[in-house]
Amino acid sequence: MNIQSLHKKLSTLALGEIRYFESIGSTNDEALAWAAQGVSDLSLVIADEQTAGRGRLDRKWFTPKGTALAVSIILRPTSSSHLSRTVGLAALSIADSILKHGFVPQVKWPNDILLNGKKLAGILIETVWSGEHVDSLVIGMGINVNKESVPPAKDLQFPATSIEAELEHAPAREELLHDILSALIARRPQMETDDFLRSWEEMLAFRGQLVQIKAGGEEPVTGELLGLAPDGSLRLLDKHGNNITVHFGDVSLRPTA
Ligand code: ADP
Repeated sequence: MNIQSLHKKLSTLALGEIRYFESIGSTNDEALAWAAQGVSDLSLVIADEQTAGRGRLDRKWFTPKGTALAVSIILRPTSSSHLSRTVGLAALSIADSILKHGFVPQVKWPNDILLNGKKLAGILIETVWSGEHVDSLVIGMGINVNKESVPPAKDLQFPATSIEAELEHAPAREELLHDILSALIARRPQMETDDFLRSWEEMLAFRGQLVQIKAGGEEPVTGELLGLAPDGSLRLLDKHGNNITVHFGDVSLRPTA
């Protein structure tokens, strides 16, 4: 992968500018700084390696050289509505690119993509504010493409996999990125619709199962996973029959043993 191969593969898509790095700390950090300088909608930061890739709450995201797709996509929203569905837009776009190969991924709410029950990709959405309104959003995606991208089990709290391990072959990263971006461009105008919410909801892992949500230092919440609220929050049914809504934030979801 290099800047020429990226430009060539992505030339048919209506994108902003593209920056490519052989090695970078975090593509999201670069994209946030670039977005703050006013770069155009759908500009991309892509790296062959991240040395300080981030998950939520500064947890580490592992992107070894030449094996994974690390990209940050800058969005300049035209309306402030449905911004909370951006993580769904990212999840559905990654899912579309995998479905094309005949495999059905799932979303471990809120921000991980699973394939065969193992973590294939992570999404990290960050915001550039201008006073009280959102100036831009950065969608960070880390996708395990080759087998070597998967971190050693001792570094993980949840099992991980790669496209190559599950599909027995790995697409070129430029090809994968092209498919994700064309899905994102196609789905973006639909973000406000009920169909969009339903498609996102249908991808949820553990639907109808008991899950436990841990949020910060609070007591874990256990309930049956029902689906999504219109803003992308998670709906659970607790053992007393009460509906609970869990908002994004520092939450980690696990199936109960
Ligand atoms: P959680 O799984 O608790 O929701 P995050 O979504 O914040 O956590 O993702 C960060 C976590 O993902 C890290 O703490 C690490 O355990 C795991 N991780 C890091 N790099 C990878 C990777 N390339 N593939 C799969 N899992 C990873």
